[in-house]
Amino acid sequence: MSNHTSFTDKQLQILTLYSETDTERLAEQLAALLPSGSVWLAGDLGAGKTTLTRYWLQALGHKGAVKSPTYTLVEPYSIEQDDGTTKLVYHTDLYRIQDPEELSLIGFDEYLEDKNALVIIEWPSRADNYLPPPTLFIDITQSVDETRQVEIRLSKVGQAKGLDLSLLKI
Ligand code: ADP
Ligand code: MG
Repeated sequence: MSNHTSFTDKQLQILTLYSETDTERLAEQLAALLPSGSVWLAGDLGAGKTTLTRYWLQALGHKGAVKSPTYTLVEPYSIEQDDGTTKLVYHTDLYRIQDPEELSLIGFDEYLEDKNALVIIEWPSRADNYLPPPTLFIDITQSVDETRQVEIRLSKVGQAKGLDLSLLKI
């Protein structure tokens, strides 16, 4: 029996993305599902972490470019919403982090403390002992045939927020 039997479809979804259009669809649904909180976005180089984040930012109304934060560690976005509020999104990539001390240098704790912000973290495994638990875990695996398998899992924080992953459909 697999471990997954202990999760309900509210808490765990495994989806197959056959094209970037599927990735875009998923990003739109994630944008609607999760107004704030943090997301650990795992997967090998080229799995599609930045691509998913790009569509996610676009779904939130961002119009400009989305660069990979590999060198800057973090790219902040401030996106005007239709209701006049501003959505803050921090897109980070910890791949190049040498020392978890760097997290405080870039002000990471402040992003995570901002309850209204969305923080998307690529390569959380580089500093996972130093990060608070996220709302959502997303793990992307690329198959030999270019399709992507995406595992999305709620943390305890996500469950406490009453989020429901069974709404996600490709
Ligand atoms: P990562 O951030 O995980 O290193 P990127 O998003 O930068 O990966 O790169 C993923 C590459 O794979 C991009 O060139 C993208 O166009 C391509 N790609 C092909 N199919 C997909 C898909 N279904 N979802 C995301 N990216 C895809
Ligand atoms: Mg990337």
